[in-house]
Amino acid sequence: MQMKKQNVARVFFALWPEELVQRALHTLAMEYQSRCDARAMNADTLHMTLLFLGEVERAYLPQLIQSASKVSVPSFGFALERLSFWQHNRIAYAAPLLEIPALNQLVTALQQELIAAGFPFENYEFNPHVTLLRRVGHTLESQTIPPIMWWVDSFVLVESVLTDTGVIYQILQKWPLSPMEN
Ligand code: ATP
Ligand code: MG
Repeated sequence: MQMKKQNVARVFFALWPEELVQRALHTLAMEYQSRCDARAMNADTLHMTLLFLGEVERAYLPQLIQSASKVSVPSFGFALERLSFWQHNRIAYAAPLLEIPALNQLVTALQQELIAAGFPFENYEFNPHVTLLRRVGHTLESQTIPPIMWWVDSFVLVESVLTDTGVIYQILQKWPLSPMEN
């Protein structure tokens, strides 16, 4: 029997969409669900992962939160403009068409603070996406979608909690970004 690990938390940093963005993303997911023979993510689970840490000892969470508090980048906006598919994990996701320098800057700042504090994480390439569909049975060509505009004025630390009915996400902390520079 696998012991439930209560001294560790499975955590990641993310952008959490405000209600209008969440609704637009969920509507898109519902539109493609049957065409793709897939399962749409629940509206309240939709997010963009910035940095996945995995298991962190709970005792270190305050330090993690303190490190992330040092991130200071301005607010920014971007658009999700395409729907694409990954075969290897059978998901469909919404993504930007272009590089978003301000988004990369946020991720880099976060990585730097975590490195400075000695938090280990896998240094995979950041690939901005919002998973919309799981268990895709029928993938389509990558396609452009009516742009979903997302104004980013905060980021969050989330715990991924495995329950009997699946994974739920709990926001542990939220940080505002600084007001936009002129
Ligand atoms: P499940 O794994 O049960 O299907 P999930 O993928 O939603 O559920 P987690 O595995 O805890 O839950 O992942 C939380 C977030 O972190 C998701 O956005 C996921 O895509 C991302 N993530 C998970 N593992 C990694 C990883 N090794 N590298 C990068 N991102 C990851
Ligand atoms: Mg997973």
